Amino acid sequence: MNIQNYINGKFKNPKQDSWIDNFNPSNGEVYGQIPNSSQEDVELAYKSAKTAFSSWSKTTLDKRSRILIKIADLLEENLQRFAEAESKDNGKPLSLAKAVDIPRAASNFRFFGNAITQFASESHESIGQDAINYTLRQPIGVVGCISPWNLPLYLFTWKIAPAIAAGNCVVAKPSEVTPMTAYLLGEICNKAGLPKGVLNIVHGLGTQTGQAIIEHKDIKAISFTGGTSTGAHIARVAAPMFKKLSLELGGKNPNIIFADCDYDDMLNTTVRSSFANQGQICLCGSRIFVEASIYKKFKTDFVAKVKALKVGHPSDKATNIGALVSKPHLEKVKEYIEIAKTENGTILCGGNKVTVKGFENGYYLEPTVIEIASNDCRVNQEEIFGPVVTIMPFETEAQVLEMANKVKYGLSATLWTNNLKRTMMLSNNLQAGIVWVNTWMMRDLRTPFGGVKASGVGREGGFEALRFFTETKNVCIKY
Ligand code: NDP
Repeated sequence: MNIQNYINGKFKNPKQDSWIDNFNPSNGEVYGQIPNSSQEDVELAYKSAKTAFSSWSKTTLDKRSRILIKIADLLEENLQRFAEAESKDNGKPLSLAKAVDIPRAASNFRFFGNAITQFASESHESIGQDAINYTLRQPIGVVGCISPWNLPLYLFTWKIAPAIAAGNCVVAKPSEVTPMTAYLLGEICNKAGLPKGVLNIVHGLGTQTGQAIIEHKDIKAISFTGGTSTGAHIARVAAPMFKKLSLELGGKNPNIIFADCDYDDMLNTTVRSSFANQGQICLCGSRIFVEASIYKKFKTDFVAKVKALKVGHPSDKATNIGALVSKPHLEKVKEYIEIAKTENGTILCGGNKVTVKGFENGYYLEPTVIEIASNDCRVNQEEIFGPVVTIMPFETEAQVLEMANKVKYGLSATLWTNNLKRTMMLSNNLQAGIVWVNTWMMRDLRTPFGGVKASGVGREGGFEALRFFTETKNVCIKY
């Protein structure tokens, strides 16, 4: 199936009639083509967004809110179709796309459709000076949203929904590896009555289409989720143009397990936090540190549970682990397993490519647990972003805190303990934007989301996202 760009409410072929193959990770076959959009297509999208801005930015909050909520409703009505498209494009289990990805994309629109009606500004009375200050939060204009392949529609809409709720018009690019649900979203937006030009979706390569978005002098803000090196590149390009930037980047998150935790809950959640979505979630706890007194027991129980996970075709109901997103990504993950062997890592389970009957060319890999001897080894320091975790024991709180923080990333951390003092000490001192205690990936869309260090700059979620997508202006009136 060929997909098209969505510009000014219409589906269009790329100007230069250039196309890229789209692969189905479950069988390794090309199943369609996507536009290889050029700078000309981005310019067309920009112009359409700019034209729409004057009216959209003045559209009442009530109307904006109703349209966003209508998009959410339509996504829910089309759950099966969107989930099937997401699973086929990405390789993730259909059950996961149905339970998480698509419902969450709908929630993003519903949440920001509601949030914008509650988004208020401040006023400050300058007492004794007969003056009052009030703050305006005005839409920026045309903004760029660029998202990755791991949670395609979920992360795409996490940016688009607050951007348009706040009155901006958008030029957006999903990952070229997983464009399908973004394409289908255009149709839903038209049905929901989103005025033409408010959202424009251009497909293509990051280095060409994405580059044209970040280089565009009149696209005033960029919200980006993706790899750390791409984020650094975007920052370099955008800084001289003084664009507003929100960068959600890579992670290498510690999962710290103390002997006093609720063991069964911890064990089940740790399997999920290690391997959900084939380990391709920026929040996965890929570095597992276990208190020495329960290390042996944990190792036995964890490995047994991981071995029981079924790797299979994404639409098979019994599948726990689907296909990795692409062949190059599978190769990258496999390379890290080889690196582990050269670093004295012990592969406790997994490590091999899986051949699924009938889908022999699919990108399947066993969930892999590596016991490591040093916190500093590459597999414990570099983002692998696949079904691979490391485990190692620790003795004291101070030691595990030091190891957890000794990494360039700082997105999230998970802590398993019932000790209040320890919880407070560690959550205050862990270098991460998000700390989960006795749970993982429990999300409340009002909370700030983002990382520190090489995991990014800025926060998304709730009013933080609406603040990012608006310019703040203070007005001071002397009376
Ligand atoms: P990439 O950085 O490769 O790509 C992300 C997006 O940027 C894609 O749409 C890509 O296009 C585009 N892109 C690539 N180069 C440029 C460029 N020069 N200018 C503009 N856009 C560009 O990341 P992945 O897609 O591989 O995603 C995985 C990464 O995302 C991991 O590092 C993961 O940790 C991170 N991530 C972070 C999250 C967070 O919230 N912090 C959440 C989820 C993932 P194309 O794909 O077409 O090349």
